Amino acid sequence: MAQISLRNVSKVYKSGAVKAVDNVSLGIENKEFIVLVGPSGCGKSTTLRMIAGLEEVSDGKIWIGDRLVNNVPAKDRDIAMVFQNYALYPHMTVYENMSFGLRMRRYPKPEIERRVHEAAEILGINPILRRRPAQLSGGEMQRVALGRAIVRKPLVFLFDEPLSNLDAKMRLQMRTEIHKLRLRLRATFVYVTHDQVEAMTLGDRIVVMRDGKIQQCADPITIYEKPANKFVAGFMGSPPINLIPGRIIKKEKKYYFDEGRFQVKLVEDMYKIFSAWEGKELILGIRPEDIYDRLFIAEAAADNTVRAVCEVVEPLGSEVYLYLNSGKNTFIARVGAHNRPDVNRDMEVVFNMGKVHFFDPVTEKTII
Ligand code: ADP
Repeated sequence: MAQISLRNVSKVYKSGAVKAVDNVSLGIENKEFIVLVGPSGCGKSTTLRMIAGLEEVSDGKIWIGDRLVNNVPAKDRDIAMVFQNYALYPHMTVYENMSFGLRMRRYPKPEIERRVHEAAEILGINPILRRRPAQLSGGEMQRVALGRAIVRKPLVFLFDEPLSNLDAKMRLQMRTEIHKLRLRLRATFVYVTHDQVEAMTLGDRIVVMRDGKIQQCADPITIYEKPANKFVAGFMGSPPINLIPGRIIKKEKKYYFDEGRFQVKLVEDMYKIFSAWEGKELILGIRPEDIYDRLFIAEAAADNTVRAVCEVVEPLGSEVYLYLNSGKNTFIARVGAHNRPDVNRDMEVVFNMGKVHFFDPVTEKTII
């Protein structure tokens, strides 16, 4: 069993003034695939390296299985780590790179051979076992790095941005490989990335971090549909969620979000919560896919229709991005491939008010 538990874990580097990781508590289930995601410098790698035993914990406790590992050296933690730069030994062949850890641990030769060939089979790298790293492509090097981790049969795999040195096409391919791999290897995975697509597609759960702190920890759909705050909402999704400041007003017993240039009516379920916000400023969040071209909506209510100038039309083949300007705010709509509004003309778009989020402008927390 390899559940991992972090309790009130912090890290202050000797040379650093700030907390790289700040009071993080997290429970990772046995055989779960957890993704730590966030912008550069938010403390993801440091968290991973503390689990690995490559960095000391300044404060708090880490368990792997039911063993407190704070003072257990990395080599005794039953984990295998895959790094961004692959960290292959240049003078060794692929076979030697993959078998190195087992040789150091004095595994019998037949067992080493069996494990290397098994891993090579899984990764499809049997034909390159005699080559050296300089003779490999980026994708092949990444496979070798994975192979070196697999042969150890660890309880926990730790990945630190393993795909970020690959080009876009290879990244996509390796992402699906990792997906297949995790179905074959019944282990626990902790995966660090700054790429929200990798996080969404690989994680059973995603941990979004910022400034050393966990912002939200949940399954991908919850993170996307119910972000805990403005930061999480803005980090996940491409193009990013539109954040539009305005205030709540009441007209004839109905509540509206008033942007200044346009007003949209809240759905009635929200009235109760927003009665307390009447007259106050807040931020509306709406994802680009929840804004539609009015022409393509059969029955749009007038009170969630917005007039805006379409400044740029970006056809992407499968969909079209519209860059809109209300006169006060700019926002993006992501519409169907056949939408082609005129550029620099007024157009009408419809906000799906059942899908909007509202954020407190001071605390940035989600109101609903
Ligand atoms: P991430 O992986 O999210 O990019 P890191 O965990 O690498 O973030 O870094 C978190 C913070 O700790 C950053 O402010 C970074 O500059 C700092 N940091 C990382 N490693 C060291 C180190 N060895 N010494 C001092 N500060 C460090």
